Amino acid sequence: MEVKIRLNLSLFILFNTFLLIISACSSPERPNILFIMSDDHAFQAISAYSPDLIQTPNIDQIAKDGILYNRAFVTNSICAPSRAVMLTGKYSHLNGVRGNGEVFNGNQQTIPKLLQQNGYETAIVGKWHLKSDPIGFDYWNVLPGQGDYYNPDFIKQGKDTVYQGYVTEIITKLSIDWLKKRDKNKPFFLMMHHKAPHRSWMPAIKNLQLFDDTKFPLPSNFYDDYEGREGLQKQMLTVKDHMDIRMDFKVPCIDCDTVEVNWWAPEEYWRRLNRLSQDERAQWEESYKKEVTEFLEAKNNEKRYDQWKFRRYIEDYLRCIASVDESVGDVLDFLKDNGLDKNTVVVYTSDQGFYLGEHGLFDKRFMYEEAFRTPLMIKNPDKIRKGIVSEQLVLNLDIAPTLLDIAGAEIPTSMQGLPLRETWNGSAEWRDAIYYHFYEKGWGVSPHYGIRTDRYKLLHFYDLIDSWELYDLQEDPNEMSNLIQHPEYTQIIKDLKSQLKELQEKYKDKEVL
Ligand code: CA
Repeated sequence: MEVKIRLNLSLFILFNTFLLIISACSSPERPNILFIMSDDHAFQAISAYSPDLIQTPNIDQIAKDGILYNRAFVTNSICAPSRAVMLTGKYSHLNGVRGNGEVFNGNQQTIPKLLQQNGYETAIVGKWHLKSDPIGFDYWNVLPGQGDYYNPDFIKQGKDTVYQGYVTEIITKLSIDWLKKRDKNKPFFLMMHHKAPHRSWMPAIKNLQLFDDTKFPLPSNFYDDYEGREGLQKQMLTVKDHMDIRMDFKVPCIDCDTVEVNWWAPEEYWRRLNRLSQDERAQWEESYKKEVTEFLEAKNNEKRYDQWKFRRYIEDYLRCIASVDESVGDVLDFLKDNGLDKNTVVVYTSDQGFYLGEHGLFDKRFMYEEAFRTPLMIKNPDKIRKGIVSEQLVLNLDIAPTLLDIAGAEIPTSMQGLPLRETWNGSAEWRDAIYYHFYEKGWGVSPHYGIRTDRYKLLHFYDLIDSWELYDLQEDPNEMSNLIQHPEYTQIIKDLKSQLKELQEKYKDKEVL
């Protein structure tokens, strides 16, 4: 009798185990998602896009293993708004974050919330920058506001915490620590969001001498005279005239003049520097001695001084990126070493592009290509063939629907982007125009909106100034010649204006209708 019961029990356990195996095999396994985003990372400073400035082998690896988007753009080229667009899949006028000053309403629908509801373990580590607390995350450990590069404060699940070290390395370590202790019965969604390479480009101490011997030529349009382009004439964002000698160029100058627009920069420089330990501070000062000597030699010769400023800017910017690339390598290695690389989708992007001296500028904001465009690459093992390059017009608006689609979750109809799956085989129909709207008024940049098609870009500065611009990107990829008054383009302008109005209606941007 006892033997019979035991036999029955064994058969019952065997049968249930069999059922479990069958159900695990028949339900599609949902991939993990690692969403890596840096802040202000220009595509010009990723070797998968351009080998001229820096080698980024680890970031490039994501593109080699998946798809590289050559024409990825943002809908509003500034930090917090871009993050809100990616979280919600909606334009700024609908998600409520038009500029950096607005607070993100965390009650709205977002990708982490939807992925969490679909059984994902969710986390964000690093830059958040949306003023309200993150919602929809099983774990969050974020920088307050912009955050600091050295020995930074974090807010860990609502609690103030300080970590010793360099911010990019800390974000990497915290991300990997979370991956180790996550609930392994669920797929994960991790947003590893770097502060670097945001202004004021403070590199890891170990990287302070990188590029010391590299010469960086000025971009061909560094001395752009802005003729015929009123929007550019009013801005205060040039490498030549609007950067701070201390904060941006790292010359500890007590009695140097401050550019009016940077009234806050000298104090901020000393505050940031004071976060270094005594030893780190000594290494910092030793490392920048050479740059200070070169400043004293160059400052009385205008051309030489311009070249020195550009070099100071680019060196520190790229030094910060060297750490981001190392971080990507570390986390990709972790995935591989733990057998997670085959079932983890990896996205690399930035919250927008950045000017590295083109048009004489640093910063972002404008709809001109370098700030409007953003790096984007996706590795999706088994779903995307290796080494594809896409020329489709894609947007950061597409990130949210794409990630939901990858997770097999329903995409809410209120989301305005498109799942990028359509672009993976290159044959599907895709949008032929994209819409942009920038709202902030700082640094002399007027709010503007516009349309970009395969060949043309039409934009309208409508607030501080009232001025239209048209570019033929095929003939003038650097956007030096505004064709708005050119009689040959009258019909093209008329068509673009009508297409622009259609997009404003489609995306419900009623503020400009
Ligand atoms: Ca940014």
